[in-house]
Amino acid sequence: MTIAIESLDKLLAPMRGDCAAGSVSLVGAGPGDVELLTLKALRLLRSADVVVYDRLVSAEVMAEVPPQTLAIDVGKRPGCHGMKQAQINQLLVDLARSGRQVVRLKGGDPFIFGRGGEEMQWLQQAGIPCQVVPGITAAVGCAAATGIPLTHRDCAQSVRFITGHSKTGEPDLSDASLGATQQTLVFYMGLSGCVAIADQLRAHGRAGDTPVAIVENGTRVTQRVITTTLSELANTVAREQPQSPALLMVGEVVRLYRPESLSAAALASAG
Ligand code: SAH
Repeated sequence: MTIAIESLDKLLAPMRGDCAAGSVSLVGAGPGDVELLTLKALRLLRSADVVVYDRLVSAEVMAEVPPQTLAIDVGKRPGCHGMKQAQINQLLVDLARSGRQVVRLKGGDPFIFGRGGEEMQWLQQAGIPCQVVPGITAAVGCAAATGIPLTHRDCAQSVRFITGHSKTGEPDLSDASLGATQQTLVFYMGLSGCVAIADQLRAHGRAGDTPVAIVENGTRVTQRVITTTLSELANTVAREQPQSPALLMVGEVVRLYRPESLSAAALASAG
């Protein structure tokens, strides 16, 4: 049962009497494919009193929430604001204080660019019992679903997960070591800043022909993969108009992409 944010007040009345202890589980929902949920996440989803979720959580994952369980959508969509982070933090505290077992369901992994760290700190300060359940982060899900390894002994000794959207809204790419070869860079929220990303990586010394994969809706039935190069990235994005959620994978590993050789099982699970 999905409820509107406006009718939350009614929910915050104590559920099991004043002394009942509520708690919050920060649970990773993975990148979309429901089979990538952990068993722990599934168990918590099925036993929660209320699930607080955001827009990255796929419909298939939400279908695992029992129909009688309250589900609160606090998601932000481009051009349409959901609840502000401070309101979400407070909602989690209020729901737990009302005695409920709360699942805070977040796309991917709660501790990778998901503001799960902030929510955990807030809960800790409020004295609310809190546990964290990891999820498969988008980079790992997309790597598996495309057959692009994140590391490879021949060409990538390390991988970095980078946000294209720092506190200022712009990517912070001042670190010159981003120009080093032999590493894979994965940009989350990188679509809108793709021009700056390509320019900065070139300025730090990455070659213009460094391959880039744009993975849209990774692991979902709607998955789309577009390959290009750093020097062509801006043109490709303008032409192909990839939509969020999408990742940019940058590095020699992208040359290993072989769409024709993805196994039937992988394609079936991607739909
Ligand atoms: N906590 C999440 C990331 C949240 S930031 C995680 O661990 O995956 C949101 C960004 O994640 C999106 O803008 C996009 O860059 C990326 N993302 C999330 N799900 C994705 C998916 N299924 N396919 C491609 N990118 C995805």
